[in-house]
Formats: sequence, structure tokens, C-alpha cells
Amino acid sequence: MSDAKPRLGFVGLGNMGGPMANNLVKGGYSVSGFDLNRPLLLKRAQEIGIHAADSAADAAKRSDYVITMLPNGQNVRDAVFGKDGVASGLAKGGIVIDMSSAGATGTAQLGKELAAKGITLIDAPVSGGVTGAEAGTLAIMVGGDDNAAIDKIWPVLEAMGKKLFRAGKLGSGHAAKSINNYLGATNLIAIAEGLIAGTKFGLDPANLLAIINASTGNSGTSQGLYPGQVLNRKFGAGFALALMAKDVGLAADLAKDVGMNAEVMAHTAKVWAKARETLKGNPDFTEIVKMFEAENGVELVKK
Ligand code: NAD
Repeated sequence: MSDAKPRLGFVGLGNMGGPMANNLVKGGYSVSGFDLNRPLLLKRAQEIGIHAADSAADAAKRSDYVITMLPNGQNVRDAVFGKDGVASGLAKGGIVIDMSSAGATGTAQLGKELAAKGITLIDAPVSGGVTGAEAGTLAIMVGGDDNAAIDKIWPVLEAMGKKLFRAGKLGSGHAAKSINNYLGATNLIAIAEGLIAGTKFGLDPANLLAIINASTGNSGTSQGLYPGQVLNRKFGAGFALALMAKDVGLAADLAKDVGMNAEVMAHTAKVWAKARETLKGNPDFTEIVKMFEAENGVELVKK
């Protein structure tokens, strides 16, 4: 590779991957994309000017570094080591950047297997949602053991995010991300219970939310998601409930792996797993509020 920008592969062009790849193209990178959903891949190729590869291996063959942005760690493993996977196309010395929200322990294992093939794995999950992905303002938390490789990919990450953090060893980005989402997920359901309790008492939920937002109970969730997605019944943040349930489960697994008794994490994971079972279709994560509403016979709308 000369001084020219590295060639990039991008596997997983969904809600997040699409706009992230778009920002790479805008940043002057040539991107070869792959997604199992062929119509989506072709649509992205047309809209953002990436090359539509025939497989993850094909995208990797045309690339120096490959980014994965897939639902979970198993999908990442499949895309890397499955049939026509990244590992069979990427040259020795290549770098895989996993920006999905995956499990820290599985990532460490995947990194060992890739290292045996001369490929470096870096985890770099993101926060900021679809809006942040579109605006190129994502928070990115980077885990990895190879500092030189991290230095090389840093400009690539800067094309997609504004707040970049070195989290630590390989898997640390994923650990940080699951803990962050556990906090967001807990806050979302805690506010649901608070607003429902207040509404049942006789308060107007919108007025109660305004009180909270001017008081110490406020948070990004109470200030952003509740007025912007819940009280107006929009429920369209662009992040699937199943993915949030996965993330909270990953945080609870992490707590087990480090040998701690984390009762709040365990309970939050249980509530989200129940919502995944109860709510049909492919609900947005904000729709978990509807489960609380149904259980309590209350709708959180302005009176
Ligand atoms: P998504 O379901 O919209 O997109 C995932 C894409 O991966 C799909 O297009 C799917 O076809 C593709 N895919 C699945 N397995 C594949 C494989 N083996 N090979 C190739 N393509 C494959 O999901 P998303 O919302 O973009 O989320 C992606 C990741 O980012 C998840 O880990 C999620 O938890 C995380 N995340 C999402 C958000 C958000 O707001 N949506 C925010 C931060 C982090």
C-alpha cells in the first residue's frame, strides 16, 4: 500500500452500515460492499457509489481493510470464517474492523483465529444511532492489541465518527458498548415505569416528563427519546428491539464472565428478553414502552 488511501471492504449495509459507508465514500475512500440482502446491497451501491461485491471474500480481495457492521457476533464469525468469508479473501497483513455490537469474549477468540492467518482484528463499535451514522458524528470505542494497526485505521474511523476513544485490549470496545447500552436500556424502562406510575396517580405524562427534564432525574433518554419517539407515538428510532435485547444480554454475560453479582443488569436483561418474546414483528427498541403500557392499562400520551 502506497500513500494512497487504503481500499475498504464493508460487510453489512443495513440501518447503520449504509450511512457509515456513505461517509467513507464522501471521505474519498473507495469501498467494496457486501450484504446478504442483495436488493439492499444493489440499492446502496446505486445510492452511495460503492462497488457491489459478490461475497464477503470478494469484497475482502479488493480491500486492505474490511469493516463489519452486522447484527451480532455470530453473524461476524459467519461473515469472516463462513463460506466465501472475509478470511478467505483478505491478504496477510490485512485488518478487520468489527464495528458491530458483539460480545467481548467472542471477539478475543475471533482475534486469535485471525492472527493465525496474519490478519489483525480491531473492535470499534459505535454509539449515536442512525442520526449519528448519517451525520458522521458517531462515538467510536476502539479495542485492540496492535497499536500500529490502530494508528493506521484511525483516519478511516474519523470519516465516520467525531468522538473516538481508545478503550483498551481487544474486546474492550465491545465491553464498553454493551455497558453503555445496558445503561440506556435500563433508563428507558425505568422512565416508562416512572411515567406510568405518575399517570396512574393522575399526573399528565407530558407535564411529568417536563418536570423530570428540569430536575435531577433527567437524561439523554428523557430529553431525547421520550419527547421525540414515545410521547408522540413515533416509535421509529431505527434500532431494533431485538438488537437492544442482545446488547443488554451481552452486558449481563460480561458481568458473569468477570465473576460479579450484577442484579440490575440481570433484571434488565430479563425484561428485555421478555419484550423480545412478547412484542411481535420487528419492533423498534423504543416500543418496549408499549409492553409496560399494556401491562398497566395506561398510554403515555399528552392529556
Ligand atoms: P441492520 O439489521 O439494519 O443491518 C445489518 C445488516 O447485516 C443487514 O442488512 C443484513 O442483511 C446484514 N447481514 C447479516 N448477516 C450478514 C452476513 N453474514 N454477511 C453479510 N451481511 C449480513 O442492523 P443495524 O441497525 O445496522 O445494526 C448493525 C450493528 O450496529 C448491530 O450490532 C447493532 O447492535 C449496532 N448498532 C446499531 C445502532 C442503531 O441505532 N441501529 C446503533 C449503534 C449500534
